[in-house]
Amino acid sequence: MSAKRDQLAINGGPKSIIKEFPWPVFDESDVEAVADVVRSGEWGNPDCAGLVEQYEKEYAEFIGTKYALTCVNGSVALRLALIACGVKPGDEVIVPPYTFIATASIVLEANCVPVFVDIDPDTYNLDPKEIEKAITPKTKVIMPVHFAGQAADMDAIMAIAKKHNLKVIEDAAHAHGGEYKGKKLGSIGDTGCFSFQSSKNLTSGEGGIVTTNDKELYDMMNSLRNVGRVAGGQWYEHHNLGCNYRITQLQAGLLSRQLTRLDEQTRRRNDNGLYLNALLEKIDGISPLKRNKNITLHTYHIYIFKYDPSAFNGLPKNEFAAMLAAEGVPSFMGYPEPLYKQPLFREKNFMCYAIPEEVDYTNVKCPETEKACYEDAVWILQSAMLGTKEDMEAIADAIRKIQEAATE
Ligand SMILES: *Cc1c(COP(=O)(O)O)cnc(C)c1O
Repeated sequence: MSAKRDQLAINGGPKSIIKEFPWPVFDESDVEAVADVVRSGEWGNPDCAGLVEQYEKEYAEFIGTKYALTCVNGSVALRLALIACGVKPGDEVIVPPYTFIATASIVLEANCVPVFVDIDPDTYNLDPKEIEKAITPKTKVIMPVHFAGQAADMDAIMAIAKKHNLKVIEDAAHAHGGEYKGKKLGSIGDTGCFSFQSSKNLTSGEGGIVTTNDKELYDMMNSLRNVGRVAGGQWYEHHNLGCNYRITQLQAGLLSRQLTRLDEQTRRRNDNGLYLNALLEKIDGISPLKRNKNITLHTYHIYIFKYDPSAFNGLPKNEFAAMLAAEGVPSFMGYPEPLYKQPLFREKNFMCYAIPEEVDYTNVKCPETEKACYEDAVWILQSAMLGTKEDMEAIADAIRKIQEAATE
């Protein structure tokens, strides 16, 4: 039996998947953790002690680094890491253009220049071959994003960084608990930066954390997040240009509870991702992104597959993605364009920041990123990857239903 156009959910037909995929996941123990903080009356934490310090220890242990330092969000985590690395105005930072804007905009906010380097079309992560070509005497930092939860090519990136004496800041906002050759992401570069924003795989609504083994980086970041105070200094004694970037005890209490679930959730997403790969590979015109052989645990913050309209009677990607979402699959067409096409970069709306005059983003071109945005990539959100094997089968069936209707 082959589906017809009027049987598609987008045209009023029955949905392929009726169940919801809830996120965040919580129970009464999370409610109690927050309620306990409320009852204690100690909501804030000017010394970053108590539950905040306890959570930082738990997270550092989980990632396998000596230190972890919480802050208000993942963008600020990147900012603290960059500034602590000692960047100077006009220094260049290598970033991918297929990522959330914060990866690049936070570089501008540190008076530095984001240099966009194209992605590997197999993995959507920074392409090491392209990184080498982009290095200049002004390059100070490489900022790989473990996009969608798949580790960037860290052996190659760390080798390039060593050769050129660069720092590596891992943007691990998608990658809590992910692994590369058995090592946790966020423990390989000089720092790892994570977000606890509500969509992320570990969340307290908002929040962020930086992991590092480097005591000097840690001390500077600790000062920057705490209005320039230093260990052993007086309360009204400020050494560095920082700000109040501290989290609350309410967040720390909740994060400690949430962290106890992360490993099981990551393994479930990873296993479902492998199963969905096997199912979708069988569908003409659908190709799951490849997994680098060094990925020992993929967090599938996003499950990505490539879509070929020629197998769907020319149905454009955005229409396909809308049909899939209507079928009940939490899915989306992904970034509509590369970051360098955003008005921020094209029009250089850099406000008071000291970005050199000659910087010009209108002639940047990263063909693989453009292909991912305009033609190929379709995203399924992490909440769906917490489903059952039957849910993965239902996702594959929903895609087949659209294909049958499109080619009827
Ligand atoms: C979410 C995200 C950030 C920023 O984190 P916030 O907590 O929203 O500031 C940075 N990089 C990537 C890749 C992200 O997805």
